[in-house]
Parts: sequence; C-alpha cells; structure tokens
Amino acid sequence: MPDSADVLILGAGIAGSALAYHLARRSAGSVIVAEPRTPAAGATSRAAGVVTEQLWDRWDVEVTRESHREYLELCSTTHPEAYRQNGFLRLTRNPEALEVLEAALVRLRSWGVGAELLSADRLGDLVPDGSFGDVVGALYGRGDACVTPSTLAELYVAEARKRGVRFEFGVPVEPRAHRDGRWRVDVGGAELNACTLVIAAGAWSKSLLQRVGHPLPLTPYRTQAAVLRPETARSSFPTVHDVDSDVYVRPEDQGRILAGDGTEDVEADPERFAGVGDQGFLAHLASAFETRFPGWSRSELVSAWAGVCTSTHDRHPLIGAVPDAPDLHVLTGFNGFGVMRGGGAASRLARVLSGEAEGEALLGPAWVGRVTGPVAPFPPRPGFTLEGGDHPRF
Ligand SMILES: Cc1cc2nc3c(=O)[nH]c(=O)nc-3n(C[C@H](O)[C@H](O)[C@H](O)COP(=O)(O)OP(=O)(O)OC[C@H]3O[C@@H](n4cnc5c(N)ncnc54)[C@H](O)[C@@H]3O)c2cc1C
Repeated sequence: MPDSADVLILGAGIAGSALAYHLARRSAGSVIVAEPRTPAAGATSRAAGVVTEQLWDRWDVEVTRESHREYLELCSTTHPEAYRQNGFLRLTRNPEALEVLEAALVRLRSWGVGAELLSADRLGDLVPDGSFGDVVGALYGRGDACVTPSTLAELYVAEARKRGVRFEFGVPVEPRAHRDGRWRVDVGGAELNACTLVIAAGAWSKSLLQRVGHPLPLTPYRTQAAVLRPETARSSFPTVHDVDSDVYVRPEDQGRILAGDGTEDVEADPERFAGVGDQGFLAHLASAFETRFPGWSRSELVSAWAGVCTSTHDRHPLIGAVPDAPDLHVLTGFNGFGVMRGGGAASRLARVLSGEAEGEALLGPAWVGRVTGPVAPFPPRPGFTLEGGDHPRF
C-alpha cells in the first residue's frame, strides 16, 4: 500500500467520512482516512440525529439545509429507514421565552426557513401523547427530520471507498511532525505522509491539535440520551424540544422514543468519560415527562448513554486552514449539532481544499482564521439554541 496521500483525514465520524466522500467526488487527489476505532465510533453513533433549521445563525441554517438534502439523497435508495421527515416543535410555557420564539420566527423566515408559530390547542393533533395546557406557544418546522447518524457515516465511507479513498480502521493514530513539506502520521506502527492533514476527530481534536503544536479553543463536554419504551407511542410525531426543561424527544422505531437533554457545563475527557447515562439524567427526563408527557413518565428504560461533543469559545464551529500552520486543516467544534451540519460543512471544506472556493467566504462564521491568538479557557456553552449573542438561553 502507498504510504502517502494528498490528503490525510484523522477521524471517521460523520465529519471526516463526509469530507472523504466530498473530496473523492471532486477527484481532489488521493485521500486516506485514519481512525483508531470504527466508523462513527465517537459522538456520531451516540447522537439523536435531529436535523432542524431552527438555529440561531444563518450560516448554520444554510449548511444544515445542504446536509439535509444530501442525507435524504444518500438514504433514499439503500437505507430509507435512516431518514424520516417528522418535523420539529420547540415549545415553552414561559411568556419571556415565547418572545424569543417570536423574534426567532421573524429571523428564520428572513433566512427562508418554513417555520410557523402554533398555539397550544394545535399541539395535541401533532403530538397526541403530550399535555400542553400550560404551553404559551410553539415554533413548528414541518420540513425538519431525524436521521440515523451511524448509517449516514457508513454510507459516506462506502461511497468514498467506491471512489478510491483508503480507510485505516482500528489502529493507533498519532500525528508526528511536519517535515520536508509533508505531515507525518504514525498509523498502526507505519508512517503515512501527506501534503495536507485534516483533523476531524470530534472531541479528540483538542488534544490532537495540542500535540501538533497548534492548539485551538475547544472544550469537550458530555451530553446524554436514552431510548425508552412507553406503553403507547405513535410511530410518528414531530421532535419536541421543551425549552423550559431543555429536554427533547423524538420517535424511535418499534414504538419506542428517544429523549435527551443539554450541555453539561464542565469539560469532559473523551478518553475517560462515563459512557452510561446517569441517574440524575434519568430523573430529569422522568420529571420533565411527568408534566409534558404523563403517559410516558413510567416508560421502560431500554438504554441510556452519554457522548462527548465539542464546544467552541463563540459557539461557531472551527473549519478550514489553521492559522500559521502548514497545510493543517480542521473540521470540528460543532457545539452539539454536528450531525445536522456535518455533510454540508464537509462539502464546503472539500470545495476549499480542492481550490474551488476561498475559505473565509464559504466557511463564514465557522472559518478558523478568525482565531488569531490565544483564547482563555471557557466552559462549554450550548450551541443548539435560537438566541444569538451572549445570552444563549433557549
Ligand atoms: C447524546 C448526543 C445527542 C446528540 N444529538 C444530536 C442531534 O440530534 N443532532 C446533531 O446534529 N448532533 C447531535 N449530537 C452531536 C453530534 O453527535 C456531533 O456533533 C457529531 O457526531 C460530531 O461528529 P464528528 O465526526 O465531528 O465527531 P465524532 O463522531 O466524535 O468522530 C470523531 C472520530 O475521531 C476519532 N479519533 C479519536 N482519536 C483519533 C486519532 N488520534 N486519530 C484519528 N481519529 C481519532 C474517534 O474515534 C471518532 O470516531 C449529539 C451528540 C450526543 C453525544
């Protein structure tokens, strides 16, 4: 096997595998992906797979739309079960939060998002298992969807392989140095080298960047989800995000539901985190269900788990050429919503790497060139919100 490539990607989560696919489609030279585990072994296989355009930033909306189209297309022929358009409902019982939803609606519509504001009496038809008497309003996007993230990563890997990308799975991967104009990476005891190195290693990106001497402002954090089996649940209903409890729930197959909650505000180590859902999380779900979905509050627990996501200092991802580093690129920092943005973000980075477009223009607020100096350590902050600025509450 050749020991060199034009591009070497570290990480085969949804980001790295989608990037390999997009580079291969553009015939942008030879590509190797090195991954110490299996495809999607990181946060990708642990994600809820919610894809919604109810986001706080226009670039996010556009990139999510690109991902959404691509996921539908990728799944449609071989894995239709991995994509379902079920809509997304964000609701509140708090009049102050309703004002935020109303303002967000104006902004979202100006970005071409087909959302509408619903009163509580309309919600029962959409989610018959819910109890919405106290709700003051909800933002509804009927076009939003849910996907199976691990299936998508596997589809990207399969499509990239067909186009000549080489994948190295299940071997230790350690970047060494940039020497004689090439990045040297130890992959399973052999040295691979490439002109361009892309770090797309999710929560592991922070330590990999430190190890190659180009740290970036990233804080990994833990977040949790669970699959539950209620006595009765419809097979389809919109994903519901209750902004007051920060709990979301979506339909899962076989009459089950998948629920989760938000960002934990302490740094986590992706090598040493508690991978099982904890009692505090389950108690939080139970108490949120008691009010919102009383019929589901005594559901059987099928499984509960945690994964590690990556927060950035300003809640925008970090994508593109790392300042002052030779041919080093990143694709990370998705602040807990890298599934919905992964495909679109990877496609944009592939266009930049193949010289079709200039990074700053295409990568917008995610362009890593905005990080021009050291950033003080910061706690993880939620990215999956509507409100911009310094007060990301909803
Ligand atoms: C409970 C939970 C629910 C979520 N729900 C959603 C959701 O509904 N919608 C959404 O959009 N997002 C969601 N997310 C976030 C989403 O999972 C992540 O943003 C996304 O999966 C990040 O993808 P990634 O490819 O960047 O990272 P990962 O999937 O973490 O992939 C990184 C890969 O890098 C590999 N790696 C580690 N060390 C090295 C090394 N030395 N060299 C090379 N590779 C290495 C890892 O093994 C891993 O496979 C959720 C996350 C969690 C945990």
